[in-house]
Amino acid sequence: MSQPKNQLVVFDFDWSLADQDTDRWIFEVLAPDLRRKMKSLKDQVQWTDLVAQSLREAHSRSITKEQIIHALEVMPFHPAMIRAVTELKARGETTFLCLSNSNTTFISTILKHKALDDLFDQIVTNPAHWEPSGLLNLRRRVDPEGPQHTCDVGCSPNMCKGEELETFLASKGIEYDHIVYVGDGTNDFCPILRLRSQDTVFCRTSRGLQKRIQKEGEERGLKCNVHYWGGAWELEEKFARL
Ligand SMILES: [Mg+2]
Ligand SMILES: [Zn+2]
Repeated sequence: MSQPKNQLVVFDFDWSLADQDTDRWIFEVLAPDLRRKMKSLKDQVQWTDLVAQSLREAHSRSITKEQIIHALEVMPFHPAMIRAVTELKARGETTFLCLSNSNTTFISTILKHKALDDLFDQIVTNPAHWEPSGLLNLRRRVDPEGPQHTCDVGCSPNMCKGEELETFLASKGIEYDHIVYVGDGTNDFCPILRLRSQDTVFCRTSRGLQKRIQKEGEERGLKCNVHYWGGAWELEEKFARL
């Protein structure tokens, strides 16, 4: 009899587990002028700070907690993705970790709505909470007043996903047989550099991560296997073979 596998699947959230970007979507739904403003300010203001500022502006114009929750619940999320993760988790050999630049409230609201609250062992992201006034108070994971992360791969100041992955692995103290990373964005490049030759990245096509793998993968010593997918139905096929 073969030994049971001991596998870790690491998920980015926006455009990876979910089929949209939470930070941008809620403003596209509720206040497109704020979405436009974010687009014009994104090179001047750190992104998490910009989302926090936009949430304060939305609150000041009486956009409610209920409206934001509803926008998150109707955000595109592929049924094949729900099937893929539910089936893999049910097989019992896989631990799931979420590494995201979104925030605790956006992610937990969506997971609850999809009945996926129990999917992740840990969700590592920016902290957010609802104030009694209905304001969603969002902060960077790495406090701008404290020590900063030391990453030189180009992670945003709010969080280095590579360091967070290393911290998770050290805290578990388990040698996983296989680590799978599912991501799409430029900030998913740092953590996949930490993967070994037996590990795998499932990279979503036509977005920042694919470009970085093709441009910098070799020079940065990327060791893991690279598989591409476009739609969640294709990831479902890959998950069935894990
Ligand atoms: Mg993403
Ligand atoms: Zn990094």
